[in-house]
Amino acid sequence: MTDPPHTERRRAVPLPLVIALVLATAAIAVVVLWLRGPSAQCPVPRADVVLDPGHGGEEPGAANPAFGIVERDLNLDTANRTAALLRDRGLIVALTREDNVTGMSTWQRGRIANACNARVFVSVHHNSVSDPVPNHVLTLYADASDIPFAQAMEDAMAASLATGNIYDGGLRQLRNGGMIAAKMPAALVEPVFLSNPEEAARLAAPDGARRQQIAAAIAAGITGWLEDHGGIASPVPASPVAR
Ligand SMILES: [Zn+2]
Repeated sequence: MTDPPHTERRRAVPLPLVIALVLATAAIAVVVLWLRGPSAQCPVPRADVVLDPGHGGEEPGAANPAFGIVERDLNLDTANRTAALLRDRGLIVALTREDNVTGMSTWQRGRIANACNARVFVSVHHNSVSDPVPNHVLTLYADASDIPFAQAMEDAMAASLATGNIYDGGLRQLRNGGMIAAKMPAALVEPVFLSNPEEAARLAAPDGARRQQIAAAIAAGITGWLEDHGGIASPVPASPVAR
């Protein structure tokens, strides 16, 4: 037996329903795109480490005008020095910004780290308060799951920087968008206070010795963590092997 002939009359979908469906789909797409924010690209493919020089562009961060220092610039210099030390270890490093005119939301910084699929994300800042006395090492984390990484960063920085009147200020929680967005271990480091005049003088010194010392402390924290969590491959020899 064959099926009876299909006799149901095909009804046209009412036009207002079609329009409503199209509008609803478009609205959902807009909301999804808005929640995701601007798409992020990894500036250095396969980066192991994403360093985020805090602030930038129209947002200078803290400043100590008496010493001519602005946090935005210091953060970039310190991040570049840190990146150089990490690259010497054979690590691939990306920065969220390469110049001082570029600025972006904190969320976007974390998205860049995700686009790189980096192993760790470290936002580099310098601390400041109105009182000129305080100067201590501080590391911030967003989620409790990041406490072990934040502690490793704090310990490495304190080991080198907490001398004299500078003490280990421990950890503090900060619900910072970049660290919330970043899917890998994330920390925001505040190695020293640029509002402290003695520190500001060291930071402003043209030889850059203090900034290099801070960069070495940050790099030590990162390499120490990576060695304990998956290891660091030996750097590729810089010169070709003789035949
Ligand atoms: Zn800052």
